[in-house]
Amino acid sequence: MAEQIEKSRNFIENLIDKDLEEGVYNRVQTRFPPEPNGYLHIGHAKSILLNYGLAKEYGGKFSLRFDDTNPTKEKVEFVDSIKEDVQWLGADYEDRLFFASDYFEAMYDYALVLIRKGKAYVSSLTAEEVREYRGTLTEPGKDDPDRGRPIEENLRLFQEMREGKYPDGAYTLRAKIDMASPNMNMRDPVIYRIAHMTHHNTGDKWCIYPMYDFAHPLEDAVEGVTHSICTLEFEDHRPLYDWVVRECECPNPPRQIEFAKLFLNHVVTGKRYIKRLVEEKKVDGWDDPRLVSIAGLRRRGYTPESIQLFVELSGVSKSNSTSEMEMLEYCIREDLKKKARRLMAILDPVKLIIDNYPEGETETLSAVNNPENEELGERQVTFGRELYIEREDFMEEPPKKYFRLYPGNEVRLMHAYYVKCVGCEKDDEGKVTVVHCTYDPETKQGVENAGKELRKVKGTIHWVYAPDAKRVKVRLYESLIEPELPVYNEDGTLNLNPNSLVELNECYVEPALSEAKPYESFQFVRKGFFTTDCKDSKPGDPVFNRIVSLKSSFVIKK
Ligand code: ATP
Ligand code: MG
Repeated sequence: MAEQIEKSRNFIENLIDKDLEEGVYNRVQTRFPPEPNGYLHIGHAKSILLNYGLAKEYGGKFSLRFDDTNPTKEKVEFVDSIKEDVQWLGADYEDRLFFASDYFEAMYDYALVLIRKGKAYVSSLTAEEVREYRGTLTEPGKDDPDRGRPIEENLRLFQEMREGKYPDGAYTLRAKIDMASPNMNMRDPVIYRIAHMTHHNTGDKWCIYPMYDFAHPLEDAVEGVTHSICTLEFEDHRPLYDWVVRECECPNPPRQIEFAKLFLNHVVTGKRYIKRLVEEKKVDGWDDPRLVSIAGLRRRGYTPESIQLFVELSGVSKSNSTSEMEMLEYCIREDLKKKARRLMAILDPVKLIIDNYPEGETETLSAVNNPENEELGERQVTFGRELYIEREDFMEEPPKKYFRLYPGNEVRLMHAYYVKCVGCEKDDEGKVTVVHCTYDPETKQGVENAGKELRKVKGTIHWVYAPDAKRVKVRLYESLIEPELPVYNEDGTLNLNPNSLVELNECYVEPALSEAKPYESFQFVRKGFFTTDCKDSKPGDPVFNRIVSLKSSFVIKK
């Protein structure tokens, strides 16, 4: 499938080709650098697979590096979930698992290099004053009163900052670049701040922490990254990135390349919004199957292959655009259509009794598991007098073009016989409780009748044999957001869809499905693709999540 997509080289590959040709680099090393302050989502998957894919394509190296330089929001829980997600996606970082916090000492030394060169100084301005002094896009900034502080004094103060002599906010270390630069990021950015906080990795060892723009290029340089791929909002930071690696005299300086983020239309991706949904218990944790967190997608039944295909189809570009959820759904259908066995499950049951089938007798019929993939073989299903069918497959008074069961009409029972409806029973409220039919023994499907000309019937319906069907719970999911409303309101609230989760408690599935394993996926014929929920299923008692229905209006634009 992936081969069918015409692949043209993306702009990052072109840049790398050029670098290799010109000898700027003779190897390729990339990384995925998450901050462990939340769970990963589909956007991160793009970055992961892009970085990993490039390393693989060029026979290079890929690493996972936690950008853990800001202890406020970072947690070990997130470190663990991110590792799991990256591995699950298939981005193998082997033994290259790094933590930026492991380089705190090296970063401190690099800061000393800058101070000694007169390229950094200790400032006593408050955060607000730094902002005021920075100027605007049309006006240059003003010099920090400490800009001319002698090198020796800077060294002493910086050392004392590290030793914990000063409270948070008393001093910062600023890079001395250019207060008149048209690029605001170059107007003497703060590169170290005092923060008396416990870090998840280094504990209380440090009370000064490097700022992102200083730390990130050094992390890349220390590891030997060649191409540091990030998203567009960092384009304006690139001159600072280059300044840091140059002035710190890093050997083999890496280069930064920016690409456009992946946005999904009509979906909540913002970390803080997802966090709030989780905290307010509007969803069942970070892995709620309605979320596009990697953990949520995995629990919903998405496969790494489907996400890989999605990332491939969405392309790599320099300009922002949004992708459709329908494309992601297309990808999982594509992946599962040949891989998943197609079994019968009744989600909204009504009894079907075959009046002329001998009471107490049963037979076994063979059913093909997936007509598009012979390798999945066949299974045996029990057939007898009492079945369950979908309530919607019977109508007492059918509209035009309704080809399923109604009094007098004949349909095919999938893998079994033709049956003709002869009537129904109803309760006091007029609700149908049993549908009656008769079957024609001559119409048996399968090997016995293979190739035999049977009269034509227009409808085929699925069923399960009532006495041994397994009763299960099935969950149907819709968009978390109201389809016709915007995702976010002006006051920051979300337009949640009250129907995003429908739980069906009386569903009947083929008995073989009692043994379904967590994450195992199936097609329930005519109903969609489903997976066994990994959290709420118990051995012998699975709960199924609908991954996606079978219908789609999505087409790939060529
Ligand atoms: P924040 O920085 O606000 O906490 P983030 O989503 O940027 O959130 P990071 O942990 O910094 O989280 O992201 C790790 C990497 O994933 C970065 O290189 C970032 O550029 C990339 N990334 C984040 N969101 C997307 C996205 N929507 N599409 C592609 N790449 C993304
Ligand atoms: Mg970020």
